[in-house]
Amino acid sequence: MNSEEAVQLLQQVIQIPTVARDEAKVADILEQLVAPYVQAGKMTCERLNYAPGRDNLIIKLGSDDAPVKLGIDGHMDVVDAGDAAKWQHAPFAAEIADGKLYGRGASDMKSGLIASFIAFLEVAQTLDPAQKQLVFFATVGEEVDNYGARQLAAGHYADGLDGLLVCEPSGPQIQPSCRGIIDYTVTAKGKAAHSSTPEEGANAISGLFAYSAAVAEEVAPLIAKKHAMLGHATHSITLIKGGNQVNIIPEAASLRANIRTTPLATNAEFTAAIKRALAKANAAVDGVTLDLSVDSTIDFAASPADNKLVQSIQTARGAIDLPEVPVVGGTGINDAAVMLQPGMDLAEYGPGSDTSHQTDEYVEIADFLAAIQVYKELFANY
Ligand SMILES: [Zn+2]
Repeated sequence: MNSEEAVQLLQQVIQIPTVARDEAKVADILEQLVAPYVQAGKMTCERLNYAPGRDNLIIKLGSDDAPVKLGIDGHMDVVDAGDAAKWQHAPFAAEIADGKLYGRGASDMKSGLIASFIAFLEVAQTLDPAQKQLVFFATVGEEVDNYGARQLAAGHYADGLDGLLVCEPSGPQIQPSCRGIIDYTVTAKGKAAHSSTPEEGANAISGLFAYSAAVAEEVAPLIAKKHAMLGHATHSITLIKGGNQVNIIPEAASLRANIRTTPLATNAEFTAAIKRALAKANAAVDGVTLDLSVDSTIDFAASPADNKLVQSIQTARGAIDLPEVPVVGGTGINDAAVMLQPGMDLAEYGPGSDTSHQTDEYVEIADFLAAIQVYKELFANY
């Protein structure tokens, strides 16, 4: 595939608004392109349905018995475009201006998805199927709760891989680890009363304040620990609701919070800390009952900074005269967090810009084309 065809394929895929839906339309395009290889017996292609119109795609090149196995991951969904009127280049037009390709998903992460897919197709000509297996995963629902990757992990699709390359936009750096996440809700139930006689009620908001103070104290020792690559864990109360009217003691209130975890301050340790804080707060405010629900929890994914996949990416860059890039911890969460298994090499590395999830999201076309070359070298040398 030449550069022009590569860019056209990326445009075609960006023009499909896969905002938590219709990933199957992207899967259709990819499946059509691998069909000749499947017919020739060089690849297998499987669709794994998540919901109507939403299929994960798993394409395998090389033997199941090969001694080296590399997984390649890209998500097909994108976040909402927001107010389209605020975009200078319509979000799903895939317009090109000044060497940049604009559109929702141009950076996060249809450029990484398509660049790695093209490289995958191109190495099919030369890869020795007995020596190496490449497994290409195109997933659904990454932006919501990693639905597709969860389905792949549960279905054991990532079992036995030596390495997992996640083609998310990484900036000019490689990320061999990412922090974990916990989302939780605390609900407070009290008793309404006229605010002139608060002693007759039980203030649910006071319950939340007690919780907020208690949790700050309980998580402080965890947040204090600094991981060499992932830095500090964090805990943030991000939503709060409560009360109906200024002269009524509120009978109900709730808050939600988001935690980012590290190998030094784990999901299990944070969960224990918030439970202790809840018990303290329950004891602190008479007549108010606090309940906790952990809405989502995903462990950190951490692989050594000098793992073989990271080294292979640096070597691949060198092969096309690109300089080495820094190896840093990732702060966000992506498919890696649910697909990585102990002992597996991880690297997040892909084209894109710092405009992910923003208006006028773009990728530099040169960055996209260079990524294809790096991935080709990488798939050959890993
Ligand atoms: Zn992404």
